[in-house]
Amino acid sequence: MDVSLLNADLHCHSDVSDGTLSPQALAARAKANGVELWSLTDHDEIGGQAAARDAARALGLPYLTGCEISVSFLDQTVHVVGLGFDADDTALRDGLAATRAGREQRAREMAAGLAQVGIKGAFEGALKYVGNPELISRTHFARFLVETGACRDTHEVFRRYLTEGKPGHVPHRWARLGDAVRWITAAGGVAVIAHPARYRFTPTEEYALFSEFVAHGGRGVEVVTGSHTTAEYATYAELALEFGLLASRGSDFHDPDESHTDLGALPDLPGRLTPVWAALAERVIRP
Ligand code: AMP
Ligand code: MN
Ligand code: MN
Ligand code: MN
Repeated sequence: MDVSLLNADLHCHSDVSDGTLSPQALAARAKANGVELWSLTDHDEIGGQAAARDAARALGLPYLTGCEISVSFLDQTVHVVGLGFDADDTALRDGLAATRAGREQRAREMAAGLAQVGIKGAFEGALKYVGNPELISRTHFARFLVETGACRDTHEVFRRYLTEGKPGHVPHRWARLGDAVRWITAAGGVAVIAHPARYRFTPTEEYALFSEFVAHGGRGVEVVTGSHTTAEYATYAELALEFGLLASRGSDFHDPDESHTDLGALPDLPGRLTPVWAALAERVIRP
């Protein structure tokens, strides 16, 4: 079989970060949806890895360790997915802990900003949705604002309250690009630029992101993701070829109601690309 046709889903979130399902429930959903290679990639956190791996093994589902690291690059937040690393690696664990560390203070400042426009109690409100106290995120605030009736859905919350220039937005310094790539690669994994079409870089800035990522040892880019349009699959297939990057595929699933792309429900990678899993065969945890 053509390896690029494997139903790999290498990007999703559990309630250990800002998803709503447990790692076990995600494993079952991935299996039921026909996923053939799976990775749980929580934001800045690998606390769900053992549960995801064990659940995948019990279901006969091949698994790769995963995470999605928040990075600051040219005044924007960029996400770097790590795949196939050793989850016991100390430098990676310390790096992720440092990346998580500012989240609580940031959340308190977000709540203060929201209070100024009349939305009270947002910190406590968001906390009700948090599964992991070290990982309070904008998504948890979004769920609270939907609950209060301030907005119809989480996308509206982001647009009106949580993005740059809006009352609940707080600029934040995440990990450095080179550090995130090195934590992943030094732990035996492959670093992948997540959903590149979501960033608002100029062509020159985007070129700088890809060049510096490769210079630091990054090897992959998400081409087929729930965050890209069909036209963007083609754009980033070209960029993958230009930079000699491996191509990844992942739904970025968070929740059955909020996410428009379910686990495993993605088109195949364009055939001329080398899938990231071709370089990770030895890192796959097989049942
Ligand atoms: P944070 O790491 O706290 O900045 O939260 C980032 C998360 O917010 C992302 O991983 C998405 O899950 C979610 N998010 C970002 N932008 C949007 C949006 N426009 N609509 C819905 N969710 C979003
Ligand atoms: Mn998220
Ligand atoms: Mn992301
Ligand atoms: Mn994600």
